[in-house]
Amino acid sequence: MRSIAFQDRLRVTSRLRSLTLGDWRFTHLPDGFCQLRPDGWYVGLAAADREYLLPYQDTSGYLVASTGGLLIEHGDQSVLIDAGFGPRRIGAQQSHPALGALQGGELADSLASLGRKPNEIDVITFTHLHDDHVGWALLEDGGLFTRAEYVVDALELRAHGQMLPQRLRGRARAQAAGGQLVPGLEVLPLPGHTAGHSGFRAETGSGKLLVLGDAFHSPAQIAHPHWQVLFDADAAQARASREAILVEAAREDTICYANHFADVVFGRVVPEAAGYDWEPLPVGATGML
Ligand SMILES: [Zn+2]
Repeated sequence: MRSIAFQDRLRVTSRLRSLTLGDWRFTHLPDGFCQLRPDGWYVGLAAADREYLLPYQDTSGYLVASTGGLLIEHGDQSVLIDAGFGPRRIGAQQSHPALGALQGGELADSLASLGRKPNEIDVITFTHLHDDHVGWALLEDGGLFTRAEYVVDALELRAHGQMLPQRLRGRARAQAAGGQLVPGLEVLPLPGHTAGHSGFRAETGSGKLLVLGDAFHSPAQIAHPHWQVLFDADAAQARASREAILVEAAREDTICYANHFADVVFGRVVPEAAGYDWEPLPVGATGML
């Protein structure tokens, strides 16, 4: 049975959470949140699905989705995967009907609380180019990350490169799916949510860390990979990507990271009789802060 603490962590956005595997450190840098309307975000939910989603909702009835980025530190290299929503807010009245409010703005402070400076980041990449993942890269003044190399999946750059300001499009390096971003960190094609949507796999020597990106937006979807997301560009492809990555995610040597998963962004995918479930890493577990 799930503990009280676990239940509470489903209803709040993520705090700064770090996981150490071998000589790799992975840190979720909180930026803010977006609220997802269960009926609307997911298409064609049954009554039983709506009931299943109740523990994942905030007091206004929205699914809780964190936003932020994953800082990966290994040796003298630092990589940031995704750059949050950025310092802005869109109220529930102004957003899409499938959403509530969206708010960012914490990522710079999250990084500072680790004692790291934005210009120390070597590489910035994105799971995809939706605006809740590229926010801090869009700032007019050139953004925070003046020194970083920007790397974007080649397909994603072609399909959604217009999201990026001209100054970034010019300097972004197109990455072929399946390549190594830096030694030990591989890019995994997970198409469907967007054409060039990517996950990542870090081989740390002390287990693997699998970045799921927006293949999943709620821990509830791990048990329901067939749920269609309104914003999946290709619903059939997105479902196929989810089902395929779950097989790898469920391996014993693998821990997963999912940017939007409330305050349970690090966890394991565990096999269940009828599929899979999400088992959050307990706070205070070995290597987990
Ligand atoms: Zn997203």
